[in-house]
Amino acid sequence: MIKVTTEVCPLCGGTGWKTVADADGALKDRRVARCDCQLRTRSENLLAAARIPKRYEHCELSNFEFDGPHRSLAPARMAACKFVENYPLDNVGLLLIGSIGVGKTHLAVGIIKELIVGKGIACLFYDYRELLKQIQNSYNDTVKATELDVLRPVFETEVLVLDELGATRPTDWVWDTVSLILNSRYNNKLTTIITTNFPDGMSAEAETRQGIKRLKREDTLGDRIGDRMRSRLHEMCRIITIEGADFRQQVKSASFR
Ligand SMILES: [Zn+2]
Repeated sequence: MIKVTTEVCPLCGGTGWKTVADADGALKDRRVARCDCQLRTRSENLLAAARIPKRYEHCELSNFEFDGPHRSLAPARMAACKFVENYPLDNVGLLLIGSIGVGKTHLAVGIIKELIVGKGIACLFYDYRELLKQIQNSYNDTVKATELDVLRPVFETEVLVLDELGATRPTDWVWDTVSLILNSRYNNKLTTIITTNFPDGMSAEAETRQGIKRLKREDTLGDRIGDRMRSRLHEMCRIITIEGADFRQQVKSASFR
């Protein structure tokens, strides 16, 4: 049996342009538009360039679980879908906050995949630690890439996912670098989607200044990226707090309904 594969697009015959009929169907003023096959190629290229890690490749908004024991995740998924729907008319970013394993990265990857495939928008995924490491490596003379080689796509991509913001132990250099990235994207009015395990609170230093004393405190976003960058994030992003599913608690509250 001979397997026939059609390499040439049947819609446009390989030209990349398809004819669009007039409103009245007349041929007198034939117009052309980009063929679907061109959009498909663009999406495939964008997807390949987005740096989505292998372990998150399967993540879609459609396979994000949000029922049964995962019911508490429904509002976060809803917000993610709304974001995709309204982009780019509304291009305020998202700050997804939640503990490890709650599905923040799944949602972030799901969002950019929809933007790439559905809207042909250039997106880039970067793990925060990996990005900082690559920038640091670029200072090494034996490495060919310069700091700007690493940073240019991070500065320029239309939508950036910065995964696990704050995960690197903060130093002056880390703070400066984070400021550089966030301020550059803010000034260029580009969209940034951020995930973090750290609660959205001010730094210990700022708390002390305000006379707040606590015996026990966990690190906040303010501690990890600085209070100024935390307020910058508030200008750039909508905050979505993802509550982890606590099955026992849900069953208990259900029995009181
Ligand atoms: Zn075509």
